Amino acid sequence: MFNKLIVTLMPLAPKFIVKMISKRYIAGEDTASAMVTCQKLKDQGFLTTVDILGESVTSNEQALEARDSYLDLITEVSKNNIAKNISLKPTAMGLGLSADLANEYIAAIVKKANEAGVFIRIDMEDSPYTDQTLEMYDRLRSQYPQLGTVIQAYMHRSLDDVKQIAATKGNLRICKGIYKESPQIAYQDADEIRQNYLKLVKEMLVSGAYVGIATHDPVLLDGSLQIINDLKISPDKYEFQALLGVPIVKRLEELTSKGHRVRIYVPFGSEWYAYSSRRLKENPDVAGYVLKNLFVTN
Ligand SMILES: Cc1cc2nc3c(=O)[nH]c(=O)nc-3n(C[C@H](O)[C@H](O)[C@H](O)COP(=O)(O)OP(=O)(O)OC[C@H]3O[C@@H](n4cnc5c(N)ncnc54)[C@H](O)[C@@H]3O)c2cc1C
Repeated sequence: MFNKLIVTLMPLAPKFIVKMISKRYIAGEDTASAMVTCQKLKDQGFLTTVDILGESVTSNEQALEARDSYLDLITEVSKNNIAKNISLKPTAMGLGLSADLANEYIAAIVKKANEAGVFIRIDMEDSPYTDQTLEMYDRLRSQYPQLGTVIQAYMHRSLDDVKQIAATKGNLRICKGIYKESPQIAYQDADEIRQNYLKLVKEMLVSGAYVGIATHDPVLLDGSLQIINDLKISPDKYEFQALLGVPIVKRLEELTSKGHRVRIYVPFGSEWYAYSSRRLKENPDVAGYVLKNLFVTN
């Protein structure tokens, strides 16, 4: 209750307070901080994917700036060989302004990344962008193999989408989905979303397509492991994925110790506010936990 209140009041709080609360979810504001976090995670046995925070840009200049930041990031990660796996949001590249613009910018990033041996995953945003994102993925993937995208288990359409992509041995991250979608197109019930999630993971694994199992939900972690065991899937056909800062490190370490790959999503950049607000709304307990730590001296 107290934590929910904190999240409700968050828009009124000074930014430095939000920043303090959300520190655990972001690697910092610049590439160097992100690389430090990735190196630490690597030392702990985790893989990483880096994301430059930002979405829904409102001008071509902002989209161009985002494209250039990603091109620079590719140069950086290929140099230090730490995090050769990058995630990006299509609306950060202007998809909300013009599909042609976003296609051009994302194609430039994917081309440079593939030449540098860097994998790109196109994140999935809200439903107005689903078709365009999947079309973009399909078009680019025929040219650039080091490319993946994301399917959200709450969408009714997802099993059909997964079947098509699995049939061509595409590379998908499966997540529950984080945006608010209507009951006409998306499951609202937690158990229905879970059931669909496991169906999607199974479809990918049965087809021999590579899948990123992105969840912190113990039921889905257990369910996915069961499918992997039952089907005797080799560990190079899947990976588990989690967001930086979500307090399930013990469970993740247990997975790596048993030979499963685990990748942490490491966001960084100056646009930390929107991302952190979403994370805190998802789990208000974190706000209380961090605030409590402020008053405890170690
Ligand atoms: C690597 C990765 C990439 C993602 N990419 C996308 C994407 O491209 N598009 C998209 O729509 N969504 C994306 N998501 C978000 C995803 O759709 C879910 O909203 C999010 O993962 C929460 O769902 P869950 O499966 O963890 O289950 P939940 O039931 O939400 O959570 C399970 C448990 O984890 C805890 N938990 C969950 N989130 C947090 C948190 N932020 N802080 C602390 N505890 C938490 C919960 O309290 C609960 O105990 C991504 C998630 C991950 C892990």
